[in-house]
Amino acid sequence: MSLIPDEIIEQVRDAADLIGIIGEHVELKRTGADYRGPCPFHGGSHRNFAVIPKKGMYYCFVCHEAGDVFTFFMKKLGMDYPTAVREVARRVGVTIPERGPTGPDPREPLFQAAAAAHDWFQRQLREAQDAKIARDYLASRHIDADTSGVLGLGFSPRGRAFLDGMQQLGIKPEHLLEAGLLVKRDDGTLVPRFRERVLFPILDLRSRVVGFGGRILGEGEPKYLNSPETPIFHKGQMLYNLHAARHAIRKTERAVLVEGYFDVIRLSLAGIEEVVAPLGTGLTSDQADLLKRHTAHVILLYDSDEAGLRATFRAGDELLHHGLRVSVATLPEGEDPDTLVQREGGAALERVLRDSVDVFDRKLQILEARGMLGTLPGRRRALDRLLPTIRAAKDPITKELYLARAAEAAHVRKDVLEREVSIQGSGARGLGLQTAPTPTAPGSRPPAPQNAERALLLVLLAGDSWRARVLEAVTANAFEYPAYREIFEAVRQDSPALLDGDAARVYEDLTRRRVDPAEAGTMFDEAMKKITSRPLDRQLEELDREMSVAGPEEQRILMARKQQVTAERNAVNPTYKAARRRGAPGS
Ligand SMILES: [Zn+2]
Repeated sequence: MSLIPDEIIEQVRDAADLIGIIGEHVELKRTGADYRGPCPFHGGSHRNFAVIPKKGMYYCFVCHEAGDVFTFFMKKLGMDYPTAVREVARRVGVTIPERGPTGPDPREPLFQAAAAAHDWFQRQLREAQDAKIARDYLASRHIDADTSGVLGLGFSPRGRAFLDGMQQLGIKPEHLLEAGLLVKRDDGTLVPRFRERVLFPILDLRSRVVGFGGRILGEGEPKYLNSPETPIFHKGQMLYNLHAARHAIRKTERAVLVEGYFDVIRLSLAGIEEVVAPLGTGLTSDQADLLKRHTAHVILLYDSDEAGLRATFRAGDELLHHGLRVSVATLPEGEDPDTLVQREGGAALERVLRDSVDVFDRKLQILEARGMLGTLPGRRRALDRLLPTIRAAKDPITKELYLARAAEAAHVRKDVLEREVSIQGSGARGLGLQTAPTPTAPGSRPPAPQNAERALLLVLLAGDSWRARVLEAVTANAFEYPAYREIFEAVRQDSPALLDGDAARVYEDLTRRRVDPAEAGTMFDEAMKKITSRPLDRQLEELDREMSVAGPEEQRILMARKQQVTAERNAVNPTYKAARRRGAPGS
């Protein structure tokens, strides 16, 4: 098919009169915000067919046909996608530039495979006996069958059923593999990637299914498994729900960014439709860029626990870096969007959003509430937390404002602070304090660190007896670098085939560097020493940084503490001087 530019397709879809077009084929009557009529697909006589103009989609509550204005033409009149787009474009008076040479999109079979799989997963959720666990789970999250249908949720069973189902539909295994729906085991056999999970379809801006997010049912890891990178799915460059949210984002002039699929669903069911989420990773530079194309203001609504706050501020910095205005909305203690809506309704959420504050102010509030601005070590650490946000602010006025507030709050002269801000990346190690591994730099992927964690993984992969020894010695908590931690967990559970993205790449690299079993002993001892002494190494680094803002009297006290910690640290790992300057693993 010829490639019609995305923005033209969006323009055509936005301009299309969905009610008018579908109304030519179905007698529609208004019910509330939607329109209902007899379904033209299964030919029923009751009004089970809904057209939802706000979402630009139609849905049948009986046969579960669903789609947008283009799919309506495709399914009802048997057009292919480009013909449907051109037909709608003709009606709304948009000219589609002819671009030559026109050839078929080589990814078309992958879109077809993903669409077929989506239909199949949805049918499992509705009908399959073994999907009861999924239906019960969704019910426990207050999502009933009709809502699941509108949202396009699905279920992936265990076993071979998916393979058989796809074979019956004539979908080729190689296309399913390339679309990330199958995984090739070491012995060459193909197995379904998603097993016993609730599936959230991930749609691109053309509303085509390109991937899935799968939530596990019951115990197990990982809790959420996403489609891997494929020719049609680039998780760092897409946002969950943007295809549906972008109209609301333009209208409300804001985007609400949440962490997970359920948060998106909860907010949009509560009437807050301008909501999107990253796809199982921290917010990337590309995603920030994508948001900027739709709005100038982003409200972050993440969990308020430690991990949630870290993710909030990391995303906040990324957005500031792209020149966006960033606010943070804070849920009442102990609530998440789900519980809040259950208890107080959608209006309570709207209140929370309205009360959102600038991301820098929110950071200051938290540091203050923790008493960090009262003591010297606290002030130093508070500054460490504030500096990345000041540096991230791309807008000069915002930056100036942040500088002034930080200087005042930490009792540091503004020119001293300015100097520290201008030394880009200085003290990056100190900034890592308590904020797990550095966020990936915009657009680039830093190589996995060559550190003790890596050495320990190499030993873990050096044969069965070493595997046993490492598993006995440490838990996943020993690994701070996320990919290393995932790999450790995967090896522990015998499921490295399920790794994806960064972790899969790193794992492959590690397996290529098989360790000589004769060297494994030394490597193991060295790595364990470094990992054990890590907390003390951190303390020493922190003392060094406090000294940079301390007065003479305070410096003497810090010096004494430093000698003490050094002694403790050398008792654990006598190679102190050589090891420490390299920095702690994962920081
Ligand atoms: Zn129907």
